[in-house]
Amino acid sequence: MNDTIMKAFLEEKEVRVTNIRLSVMNYFYQHQYALSLTDLETDLDDIDRSTLFRTIRLFIEKKIVHEVGMAGGHTKYALWDIVMDENDNSCVHFTCLKCHHSYCFPNSPTPEVTLPNNFVLDQCEVIVRGLCDNCSI
Ligand SMILES: [Zn+2]
Ligand SMILES: [Zn+2]
Repeated sequence: MNDTIMKAFLEEKEVRVTNIRLSVMNYFYQHQYALSLTDLETDLDDIDRSTLFRTIRLFIEKKIVHEVGMAGGHTKYALWDIVMDENDNSCVHFTCLKCHHSYCFPNSPTPEVTLPNNFVLDQCEVIVRGLCDNCSI
């Protein structure tokens, strides 16, 4: 993912392009698995914690990243697929029992759920646990 594509993507999401936002986005692109705030803080240590946090909140609001729920209430963050349908907020989140990395599989179908009257579905998050391709062999 080069800078030009990332800039165009941020602009399309009506997010003003800054070097910090580009670094954060680039960092997400370098990883196939979901990242915690601690991962971001550790590897992007030239950006202060509150700026990082604000950047993540903004990316969530603009549907650039989304939260991946973890056992124990921890939260990790994963990019929405750039080519993904804006209205489809559903994905499968896979956590590896061995290396504890979490992956987002937005293209994997999620089960259709039935909700009572007046309950409105926004996002369907299916949690799957197992061994990732690195750990299963
Ligand atoms: Zn693993
Ligand atoms: Zn996801």
